Amino acid sequence: MKARKRKTKTKVKVKKRAKRPIDELIKAGNYNPKTKEIHVITGEKLHCANWQIEGILRMLFNVLDINVGRDPKNLVVYGGFGKAARSWECFETIVDTLLTMKEDETLVIQSGKPVAVFRTHKLAPRMVMCNSMLVGKWATWEHFWKLEKKGLIMYGQYTAGSWNYIGTQGILQGTFETFASVADKHFGGTLKGRFALTAGLGAMGSAQPLAIKMNDGVGLVVEVDREMIRRSIENGLLDTWTDSFDKAVKMVREAKRKRKAISIGLLGNAADVLPKLLRKNIIPDVVTDQTPAHDPSSYVPSGLTVKEAEKLRVKNPKKYVKMAMESMRKHVEAIVGFVEKGAVAFEYGNNIRKNAYDAGFKKAFAFPGFIQAYLRPMLEEGRGPFRWTSLRGDPKDIAKLDDVIIKEFGYNKRLVRWIKKARKNVKFQGLPARVCWLGYGERARFGKIVNDMVADGEIGPIWVGRDHLDTGSVASPYRETEGMKDGSDAVADWPILNALLNACAGATWIAVHQGGGMGMGYSISAGFGMVLDGTKETEEKALRLFTFDPGIGVVRHADAGYAISKRIIKEKGIKAPMVK
Ligand code: NAD
Repeated sequence: MKARKRKTKTKVKVKKRAKRPIDELIKAGNYNPKTKEIHVITGEKLHCANWQIEGILRMLFNVLDINVGRDPKNLVVYGGFGKAARSWECFETIVDTLLTMKEDETLVIQSGKPVAVFRTHKLAPRMVMCNSMLVGKWATWEHFWKLEKKGLIMYGQYTAGSWNYIGTQGILQGTFETFASVADKHFGGTLKGRFALTAGLGAMGSAQPLAIKMNDGVGLVVEVDREMIRRSIENGLLDTWTDSFDKAVKMVREAKRKRKAISIGLLGNAADVLPKLLRKNIIPDVVTDQTPAHDPSSYVPSGLTVKEAEKLRVKNPKKYVKMAMESMRKHVEAIVGFVEKGAVAFEYGNNIRKNAYDAGFKKAFAFPGFIQAYLRPMLEEGRGPFRWTSLRGDPKDIAKLDDVIIKEFGYNKRLVRWIKKARKNVKFQGLPARVCWLGYGERARFGKIVNDMVADGEIGPIWVGRDHLDTGSVASPYRETEGMKDGSDAVADWPILNALLNACAGATWIAVHQGGGMGMGYSISAGFGMVLDGTKETEEKALRLFTFDPGIGVVRHADAGYAISKRIIKEKGIKAPMVK
């Protein structure tokens, strides 16, 4: 009898993935490579060589955890397509690198991709990064998207790509201050009984309803995506919502009559709702907008649902942009229509006037940008949106620092009012954080106090950073530098000088961005991050950084001829040899 042939199973060898440093964070549940879910790293345990590097790691996880952008699975954090890393492969490599870097090394990031680590020295920045920097003539969305498709570049917005994003609170104080200035300038100091109309409940825009309410006004916010309305309500930023135009108008009228502070979301497209309000002669007292108009491929055109827009964006991007530009024209025509009937209007940093102008509406610039109209005096003083987080994730650290602000800077009544309101109204997203517009002199004083408190063990290590919207860190001719006294709106030497100086100071990291806020070709800006770990060498670096950074802003404004800045230069003894 013939022996039966035995069937042998061929073993398929599954190649085991080599162990990687990031596995520690995967195991701890901070990152799930399958679902792409990310959770903040908290607690006292160090994963990196020291707190300087650990702070970078924790802030990267922070922006990706609190990320409320439209496409978190693709590392988008906010502001249309503002991303934190170029790809998941880049993200994982950044994390591996940070986990193994030495105390005297510096990581180099080019548009969200970790390209090198150099041995520098202990007092140097631990990371330098540059996002979407294109040479002038090529700084267009068209060229950017071509490069992006090839995987060569990443859009960093302002604080997404520089890992300085702290959630909606980051813009809340600025929005609160802007509406407070509107109230001061036009309505006797309060928005009580006033109707403020706007659109966009995205990562930044969702600060608007709360800021209007904190100024006692009646806010109506038009949003095309129901999910974004839901998130705003869940995050305590919006009170109520409706999908009925008539119901929304009724609620606004009633709240105005009762002088009740309330925020109402209306599901709809701004390019439809605003013209309809104008046709019906329902005129707001204040009107602005925070749809993602800086990027015509993000703004949802009238006539499309969010799903249809997503499909068309991929299928026929040219048609999409044409429809979006046409919708922005209608949107801005309505805003100017409101202005002609007595409303106060301002552009809120999204370039919608320029797009409407390019789409053929020649009166698009009939209303000003928010910085020129309301915030410039603060920038002249070297004041800007300074912010901090508790790196160990302890809300008590933030509460203690709130007390420090009230005690040390009590002379600034508006600041104290903000801290008290923020304590009551702001829900933390990710690591507990606070934003606070401190000025020249104040920032260095605060930095020293915080570092001392960390050294004494009163609080854990603290990360301090700021928005790119700041006194000396940005050139953006339709926003931060619109209408400069000497016409130097488009001179972008200043943000580059700011970044260079901050590197000399020894910030933990420095970032230079192109195209943030207003889109490709419209801005160059710089940001930084500084970890206050309680050491003596950090104190030295922080004192330099928190002096140079607002200092170059004061000098920039004095150089342009602003009197407040010239006075500060004299009073504080800043050496600026050409300022008279
Ligand atoms: P985002 O992409 O997170 O959100 C935009 C929101 O607008 C989304 O919810 C989207 O559904 C909605 N939307 C899009 N088209 C719409 C339409 N036609 N009608 C109604 N809703 C529409 O963006 P974001 O982070 O909230 O930023 C908004 C804009 O503000 C951007 O242009 C950004 O560059 C700018 N910005 C301003 C400042 C500032 O200081 N003022 C700071 C950062 C960003």
